[in-house]
Amino acid sequence: MPELAYLNGEILPIDKAQVPIEDRGYQFGDAVYEFIASYNGRLFCLEEHLDRLERSLNGLFFPSVSREAVRKAVLTLFEKAEIQRAGIYIQISRGVSPRNHAFPDGVRPQIVMTIREVEEKPPELRKNGATAITLEDFRWGRCDLKTVQLLPNVLAKQKALAAGVFDAIFVSSEGVVREATSSNICIVADGTVITHPLTPQILPGITRKVVIDLCRELDIPVSERFFKTDALYGAEESFLTGTVTEVLPIVTIDRHRIGDGQVGPVTAKLHETLRQRSIA
Ligand code: PMP
Repeated sequence: MPELAYLNGEILPIDKAQVPIEDRGYQFGDAVYEFIASYNGRLFCLEEHLDRLERSLNGLFFPSVSREAVRKAVLTLFEKAEIQRAGIYIQISRGVSPRNHAFPDGVRPQIVMTIREVEEKPPELRKNGATAITLEDFRWGRCDLKTVQLLPNVLAKQKALAAGVFDAIFVSSEGVVREATSSNICIVADGTVITHPLTPQILPGITRKVVIDLCRELDIPVSERFFKTDALYGAEESFLTGTVTEVLPIVTIDRHRIGDGQVGPVTAKLHETLRQRSIA
């Protein structure tokens, strides 16, 4: 089960893969990324991740990158590594060029990937639920594009850990609950699953979409609408969604107990169904 890297067409050990110091991803954060997981040797939602990658590339006005070439590279790396439960990180930067803010002429986007075993969330965290704090959102205005400019997310996650909790949830200055540092957030109120609508302020999470579809299939009412911190604190249940996060219950937020402080039935049902689908 080797951990491997892909570097512009070449597959090699991760510690042998190096990028030039004038890569624009390194100097400007001028790069986009995706993270795809596999279950039992099958990639989950590959096409959806490729769709979002294209959307991010277009959003940053990158020169065209062949979707087919990226898909082929992902599949080749995945086959080579033979990791059943893999996490594939894909990063595409605008290219390598002497440092200058303006887009350089005639450079090629640089495609790099790594593949490793997924680091599963601890079973106790899934069983007992996680804790979180809220934090005023101080990110840029295009959080719908999956760029590598993640410093606010990094600082927020660290602040959460320093506060002794699992994660931080970004909230607007008016108190609208947006998303967490690397996942979307849903609440359950009056039996309805509610999540922030798709706007430039949140990432269009693949798992968020899968969960919305599962709700419709399972006849669980679901609504994409704004909600504020008072609704979050008063929710029956709350949970995060993400590729590795899957559906993760949050049972305490800013010291408020959510519902009865236990993992709720809607959260448990959605996680169980998501797992069944992903390993099917
Ligand atoms: N929001 C943010 C800020 C994220 O980084 C992620 C994970 N990439 C998500 C939401 C969840 O997205 P997905 O379900 O596609 O993993």
